Order: sequence, then C-alpha cells, then structure tokens
Amino acid sequence: MEENKPYRVLLYYKYVTIENPEEFAKKHLKFCKELGLKGRIIVAEEGINGTVSGLTEQTDRYIEEMKKDPRFSDMIFKVDKADDHAFKKMHVRPRKELVTLRLENDINPNEKTGKYLSPKEFYEAMQDENTVVLDARNDYEYDLGHFRGAIRPDIKTFRELPAWVREHKDELKGKKIVTYCTGGIRCEKFSGWLLEEGFEDVAQLHGGIVTYGYDPEVQGELWDGQLYVFDSRIAVPVNRKEHVIVGKDYFTGEPCERYVNCANPECNKQILCTEENEHKYMRSCSHECRVSPRNLYVKEHNLTEEEIAERLRKIEEENAVAK
Ligand SMILES: [Zn+2]
Repeated sequence: MEENKPYRVLLYYKYVTIENPEEFAKKHLKFCKELGLKGRIIVAEEGINGTVSGLTEQTDRYIEEMKKDPRFSDMIFKVDKADDHAFKKMHVRPRKELVTLRLENDINPNEKTGKYLSPKEFYEAMQDENTVVLDARNDYEYDLGHFRGAIRPDIKTFRELPAWVREHKDELKGKKIVTYCTGGIRCEKFSGWLLEEGFEDVAQLHGGIVTYGYDPEVQGELWDGQLYVFDSRIAVPVNRKEHVIVGKDYFTGEPCERYVNCANPECNKQILCTEENEHKYMRSCSHECRVSPRNLYVKEHNLTEEEIAERLRKIEEENAVAK
C-alpha cells in the first residue's frame, strides 16, 4: 500500500547564489549523513539540486532545517513514497553548473526563463495545434516514457540540446514552444536560452513531470510510459488514469519498460530488455560486447566457454532466420 511505505524520496532545486560551494558542500554532506539520508546533491554558485532518500522522520527533518535558511525558505520539495532508500550512498558535490549546458553566455533563470505553466495549463497547451511540445531530456529518458506527441531530440546529454535546436530551427520557428523535463530544473535554463536565441513564445512545465503526475486534476493524463529517474528506482509511474507502454525491447521491439546496462563494462550502454532476452543475449548490446573478456554477465552466471559458444550460436541462428 502506498500509504504504508516508510521511506520518502525528495527531489528539489533552487537557483540562488551560494557563496563558496566547496565549503557549503562539505558542511552539507556532514549534515545529511548525521540525518541518515542517502542521495546525490549538486551545489554550485548558481544554486542547489538534489535527490535524497530516507525514512519519513529523516526527510521531514531535512526539509524543516533547509527552510530555516533564507536562501532555501521557499524551495519546493517534491515528495515520493518509497519502500526503501533510492541510493546506496550520500554524495554532495560542488560543481560549476547545476545542469551541464556549457553555454557561451550562461543564463540566469532568475533573470530570463520561459513562462511557467501549471499542469492544467500544460495539459491544455499540449492540445493546441500551434504548439510544439519539446522534450528537454535525453533520448533514453524519452524512450521509456514521454508526453504524447512530444518531439524527441536525439541527444545523449543535455549539453547537446542547443546545437540540436539550431539544426531544427526551421521546424520550430514561429511556433509556440513548451518544454518539459523531470523536475523542472533543466527547463529553467533551457527555456531562457530559447528566448535568448530569438524564439518569442516559450513556456515550461512548472515543477516538471513529477509535479504533473501528482496534480489532482490532470493526474498525469497524456503521459505515455514511465518516468526515467536518476536513482535506483529507474522507472516511476506518472499517468494515474491509464498506462500505455511505449518502451521497446532493444532486441525484439516488443513492449518493455525494463532498463539494464550492457554487461560489457567498457560499453555500459542502457538498453530496454525483457528478462528473457537478457539471458538470451547475455545482457550485451552487440556481438563485440558479448565476447568482451570482461563481460559481467558471463562472470555473474559462471558461463563456461562451451555455454558461451552455445548462446552465440543460437543468436546467430535466429539472426539468419530473421534475414
Ligand atoms: Zn554494449
């Protein structure tokens, strides 16, 4: 039962000046460890961005203490219920940027950012013909789940997004653009950059997909698939009204929402893969990865040379039939 889950996962960010992020990070790590939290927090001169997990008392304490600091007194915490910690360790890392965009001219979202849309406004904007819905996340996040009809920029990392927009300028010109991301932090900067780039009508989903899923009115409607999250849960639900699977198994294309990492540690590529195919293909994205001397699947399952050869033969047979 949702209600009985003893853990909470907090997701939060704030663009606000933090002097001496290194010093702040050190103290903050100590504070989080004392509370018993686990998670990943980034601190930069431009602000803070974190996901932490803990028992409800622990996360409540964290929120309470953070709100005493005038810099974070109005910070919004998104709260998810969970059965367990969402992380193995606690990290607080000082960085140059909260989200890696590496712009020539950096954007301060407190000065320039797209119009904020509530979940209801976003829901309505999505259905407007002159509106382009642009996913501001990476391709593997989109592939697990996205808003129905949203554009999928084929980018591996966020910093590739500006170049992608410049390449697709003609499709976007003169349109209303609405962007969205997981919790809203990427869109704060990205929508500001779009305005800077000359796009005039730019809006963003306030609070991101997470807030949209919890909104009592829209209840995640028009979201297909699951939400990719950067912790041990990997996939969480968004649409409370219906569940349409959009993820596809890497090998067969059948509906699938299960992400695994390629067993070749030098590749480590994330692939959607059913349990059956994980074993069949030795959790490897290619033949090269399958025969890698460091293949983790082979180690975990203590496969002998003969067993490996047998599986490779089966895969080859199947490929021959497919052609
Ligand atoms: Zn691979």
